[in-house]
Amino acid sequence: MSTLHVSICGGGIGGLTLAVVVGKYGTHPVEIFEAGPTITTIGAGISFFGRTMDIMKDLGLYDELVKMAIGPPQENIGPIFRKSDQKDGYHWFSRNLKREGGQLMLHRKDMVEFLLRNVPASCKSTHPRGWTPTIPVTDVLVGADGIHSATRGTMYKRLAFSIRDDKSRERLFDCIDPVWTGVLVYRNLVPATKLLKEYPDVELPTSLTLHLGKNKHVVTYPVSQGRELNVVIFHHCGAFGGPFEGRWVTDVSEKENLDLLEGWDVRAEALVKCVERPSRWALHSLRPLPHYVDDQVALLGDAAHAMEPHFGAGAGQAMEDAYVLGRLLTHELTHLGNVADALKTYEEVRLPFANGIVQRSRDVGLYYSFSVSQDGPVPAHGIPEELDCLRKSIEDAWAWQSESEWVWGDAEQRWRAKCGMLAKL
Ligand SMILES: Cc1cc2nc3c(=O)[nH]c(=O)nc-3n(C[C@H](O)[C@H](O)[C@H](O)COP(=O)(O)OP(=O)(O)OC[C@H]3O[C@@H](n4cnc5c(N)ncnc54)[C@H](O)[C@@H]3O)c2cc1C
Repeated sequence: MSTLHVSICGGGIGGLTLAVVVGKYGTHPVEIFEAGPTITTIGAGISFFGRTMDIMKDLGLYDELVKMAIGPPQENIGPIFRKSDQKDGYHWFSRNLKREGGQLMLHRKDMVEFLLRNVPASCKSTHPRGWTPTIPVTDVLVGADGIHSATRGTMYKRLAFSIRDDKSRERLFDCIDPVWTGVLVYRNLVPATKLLKEYPDVELPTSLTLHLGKNKHVVTYPVSQGRELNVVIFHHCGAFGGPFEGRWVTDVSEKENLDLLEGWDVRAEALVKCVERPSRWALHSLRPLPHYVDDQVALLGDAAHAMEPHFGAGAGQAMEDAYVLGRLLTHELTHLGNVADALKTYEEVRLPFANGIVQRSRDVGLYYSFSVSQDGPVPAHGIPEELDCLRKSIEDAWAWQSESEWVWGDAEQRWRAKCGMLAKL
């Protein structure tokens, strides 16, 4: 392994994890360029499943992570699904997460601070306010700069201008900007004491609970050691890929929030009635990208595959990218002469997988809002056969969390095989 200079644009969960992995397995100088002055904590909670926990175990950080979790890892209680678009809503089904290695919930802020504490001391980071990145002189540039990634913009313009065919060039330009998913998201915090006081008969959700119904679904789970509930309402009200007019994020009236769940089960209605200062987000995602890598530049996390949040998988996927990329960069066979091939190997392993999750996240959002099942459209009559079909679609969609092998296994095998072939040339 020779020493490579690694520059990371973006110090979010993906960029910081990459610095931690490079620090654990190598001695490369790492520099993080972070544009924001502070960590954004909006949205509060973030959940991780078995695949991410395996990575944290490998990095020797799992025990410390568990101590910061909102509750102990929950093996047996998976998400609880309720059918709630009727006054007499009911418990529909729940998922057992044992196969997936359980679920861990943390505050985003705690997670970022935890990663920061574990970044190697030698790693330099730059936080100038209002700073716009210029590409530094470096051996490897990693764009971990989120959904609006400037690195992606530069990379895709460069790729597009190198192509003669107009249609292919247009397709690359179409990958640069995020698209509206047709979903509006209402993100709210509810004080548990307020809910208990105003609705003493309504049971407080103690784990991830989803209220599903036609065109809308509500996700709720406890945060701040149970003092508050994160209540996120998804309103599927537009077409995927259409333009979004107006501001992406805006404060809304409590009435707008309330009107959404009129006629719904009291457990869902009570949550929105106790909301304080609601805000609305126009949910955007990326179209599946055809490339994560160009020469010695790579994209990871939301910069490569910003997805709808219905599996709570975006941060976990960013960490899987970071882990695989970090292990390749610090691999004993990697050096300046073949680092572009190492990045290609990262792309071969991560692009098909992560793009698959982008598509599945989108599909599961449609199942949650009773818009479609795997086998076709589902009218909202709620007859048992239709509901069984939807339930199966939801359960199948989640299966990927337990399907795959250890994330590094395939990448290492490919890299060793490729280095063997390169040596013979
Ligand atoms: C409502 C909602 C709920 C979610 N819940 C979950 C969940 O439960 N579990 C889960 O795994 N994921 C969840 N996600 C997704 C998750 O938050 C993201 O996928 C994850 O944060 C992506 O990490 P990242 O490091 O790629 O990008 P980000 O976290 O966006 O970090 C990018 C960083 O780059 C910086 N930056 C941007 N531009 C520049 C620039 N030009 N130069 C330098 N720095 C720059 C930013 O300031 C930021 O710090 C959720 C998302 C949403 C919207």
